[in-house]
Amino acid sequence: MARLLIIGCGGVAGVAIAKCCQNSETFGEIEIASRTLSKCDAVKEKLQPTTKTKITTARVDADNVEELTALIKKYKPDAVLNLALPYQDLAIMEACLRCKVDYIDTANYEPENTDDPTWRAAYEKRCAERGFTAYFDYSYQWEYKKRFERAGITALLGSGFDPGVTGVFSAYALKHYFDEIETIDILDCNGGDHGYPFATNFNPEINLREVSANGSYWENGHWVETKPMEIKRVYDFPQVGKKDMYLLHHEEIESLAKNIPGVKRIRFFMTFGQSYLTHMKCLENVGMLSTSPVMFEGREIVPIQFLKTLLPDPASLGPRTVGKTNIGCIFKGKKDGKRKTIYIYNVCDHQECYKEVGSQAIAYTTGVPAMIGAALVASKRWKKAGVWNIEEFDPDPFMDMLNKFGLPWIVDEDPETVE
Ligand code: NDP
Repeated sequence: MARLLIIGCGGVAGVAIAKCCQNSETFGEIEIASRTLSKCDAVKEKLQPTTKTKITTARVDADNVEELTALIKKYKPDAVLNLALPYQDLAIMEACLRCKVDYIDTANYEPENTDDPTWRAAYEKRCAERGFTAYFDYSYQWEYKKRFERAGITALLGSGFDPGVTGVFSAYALKHYFDEIETIDILDCNGGDHGYPFATNFNPEINLREVSANGSYWENGHWVETKPMEIKRVYDFPQVGKKDMYLLHHEEIESLAKNIPGVKRIRFFMTFGQSYLTHMKCLENVGMLSTSPVMFEGREIVPIQFLKTLLPDPASLGPRTVGKTNIGCIFKGKKDGKRKTIYIYNVCDHQECYKEVGSQAIAYTTGVPAMIGAALVASKRWKKAGVWNIEEFDPDPFMDMLNKFGLPWIVDEDPETVE
């Protein structure tokens, strides 16, 4: 039985921990370690009576490699599941290397301070050379590949839903349905309604940074960048209905372009209602989405962090959110010389998730795959020294576990496509 150290204790972690507790055959023991110990203790108190998995807690500052290293050395886990923020990815990877312990996360590295001159210079060089301007990219984590290989340990990057399940769907489509995939359209639809005029479904700072940035997609070997929300389509989502969706940059486009041989185009669309977009534009126009500190009454504040304190906590949306999510991928390509299109997707009901684990579907659809990735790595079923994206592993055991742990999927062999 495996021993897992989980870092972070927010919305996604809450679900992943509940799911580890449902999977006591794999996880004999887990430790929850985060910045605020009381949150870890509250989760332990709620879940310990329901499970055979032994839960312990600890406090850690995951920006501090020394503290992380000491914690890992003391707990001696089989793997570390990083469910803190993308800002902590590199520090946690560094500590895993020092302790020779496998690593799993759900989001690629992004710097907290985008004004840091060293980071800024590297970013501007990358924008000019590679043609997309998102603050995050995989280069920082891929850079660790050789060191992880030498240490004989596995890093599994992006084990949430998107990135995560979307990469597993891609590997599964390639393995079972296609000789060659030509295009991938990833569609992320949240048909849920929480009743607030404006709220984000996961960490507001990370969510708003992503959504207010330029869009981009991969075509014929290079990036095509768009203005934010420039490309809009309408799609009739199974079990949800017709929704407006907008093209965004998304991190799995970068890894899938590298890992799906011969793929010609990859796009990512997310649905947004008009109220969300109007609020976001207004907040952006007045400077509330800025990540650069400003002086307020004698002290420095970062506008987007201040905004986070005003917005509803995503973890509090569970009881009030009704409706469903539908997330999946449309693949076009060839099999045995014939053209073929399939759509693999999951539908998840916000209220069902709330009944089961006390969270809305966005945290659920991320927390379940985080547990599955951690289970496959910690049990050594997925074992390859180096740093890997999720589509580089055998998708079959992951797809089986999605069905078993609450995210069943559907393959539609005659779907509506996106213009
Ligand atoms: P939350 O803000 O709810 O939780 C983050 C947690 O990390 C909090 O418990 C926080 O502690 C902790 N934390 C932050 N900084 C530190 C630190 N320096 N040291 C220790 N702990 C720290 O975020 P979410 O749960 O919504 O998101 C978690 C991750 O999941 C993010 O990386 C997000 O990008 C990713 N994600 C991935 C998705 C996917 O499909 N791949 C979808 C949605 C999210 P404290 O409680 O003290 O603030």
